[in-house]
Amino acid sequence: MGRTVLITGASRGIGRAAAELFAAERFNVVINYLHSEGEAQSLAAELSRRGCGAAALRADVADRAQVESMVQSALDTFGAIDVLVNNAGIAQQRLFTDITPAEWDRMMDVHVKGTFHCCQCVLPQMIHRKCGAIVNVSSMWGQAGASCEVHYSTAKAAVIGFTKALAKELGPSGIRVNCVAPGVIDTGMNAGLSQDDRCALIGETPLMRLGTPFDAARAIVFLASESADFITGQVLAPNGGFVI
Ligand code: NAP
Repeated sequence: MGRTVLITGASRGIGRAAAELFAAERFNVVINYLHSEGEAQSLAAELSRRGCGAAALRADVADRAQVESMVQSALDTFGAIDVLVNNAGIAQQRLFTDITPAEWDRMMDVHVKGTFHCCQCVLPQMIHRKCGAIVNVSSMWGQAGASCEVHYSTAKAAVIGFTKALAKELGPSGIRVNCVAPGVIDTGMNAGLSQDDRCALIGETPLMRLGTPFDAARAIVFLASESADFITGQVLAPNGGFVI
């Protein structure tokens, strides 16, 4: 039946680019989405036209019951999940003093609890088969911290700690856990940036451009691949040199 990848937040941006690259590697692709049903379904239809197994499944990764049902449905369709990419994410710019408790909780729930839910639901069948790869999507702001994004930076730093700890626990089970920490990537997440802000960010990037979704997706696919067989617990940073 071939290998299967489940990518959270694959309707748009980095997750969508990763879905295309995994499909090109002949993976069956489970495209998780929350709101962008049209984009997710059309991507699944396009990948199916190219001869790949593909399914678009709606779930809020912050909700345990929805994640359980998504994973069960993926397993019913494809038999196993070989690679999990925890990519779903939200961003918000707020002065620290203006962040509400509800905004703080949502940021943690999507990034940290979402990664926890997806890993716990996918892992039993990986542990049973003693193989699998997990790639979590952090951010350079989880490494370096971003002003006016304390909740986002905190959540992304937690994803790095989560990755390192889980890698140690799962290594003996033959499962690798790694993390990417992209720089500024030109996706819908950054659509609100002014032209001045974009120029300033490009100016701070040694490679002098914003990243494309495929710049980040290639790092994800690499970490999931056999070429990364002896790599676990690591943070790979496709960031154009912004944070070194
Ligand atoms: P994006 O274009 O805004 O896409 C976000 C994706 O996440 C969408 O597919 C969205 O699905 C999904 N999503 C959001 N909340 C979800 C939830 N609760 N459950 C399931 N899916 C959910 O963002 P992106 O730039 O590709 O970001 C992808 C990841 O990279 C995020 O974790 C982000 O923090 C991280 N990242 C981004 C950058 C950057 O500069 N863009 C840099 C570093 C790290 P729907 O549209 O269907 O709701």
